Amino acid sequence: MDNDSPDTYFTNLVMRLADTPVSTRYFGKVCVKHPKLGGERLKSTYACVTCSRERVRTREKANPEKSKSRQKVWRRANPGANNATGARRRAAKLQATPAWANPFFIGEAYDLAQLRQKMLGGRWHVDHVVPLVSDIVCGLHVEFNLQVIPGSENELKGNRHWPDMP
Ligand SMILES: [Zn+2]
Repeated sequence: MDNDSPDTYFTNLVMRLADTPVSTRYFGKVCVKHPKLGGERLKSTYACVTCSRERVRTREKANPEKSKSRQKVWRRANPGANNATGARRRAAKLQATPAWANPFFIGEAYDLAQLRQKMLGGRWHVDHVVPLVSDIVCGLHVEFNLQVIPGSENELKGNRHWPDMP
């Protein structure tokens, strides 16, 4: 078989990306204040992860309005990621996300919805094929249960329809 065909290459690349969580951290010099972390640091600033988190918290407390508006700007610039976070929280409340769910592929669905909205116009939703909440079935928040469909179609469907429904 030709293992070098573009298709094989692309498939392998996607599989590898999906299997490798992109790490924003590394292990370096052990922090004096947080030796228990064993030197876990951020790649972006080389700072100890806990020190960095504490610094952000202090800054947020000192100037809550500014940090709120900064978060708002980020959410607006990253609507797909923001929607994925919201969906993850809602699914967590329902305990609908099994350990084997792949956050990379799930995130891709939310980015795709944004992309289609931008390219094709109209509203696009990430829909759970089998709804997370209904009287009869409870679907999972996993990549295999997601589809990107027009918003109008999603609203018609509600949580009353799923494949092979009785
Ligand atoms: Zn530290």
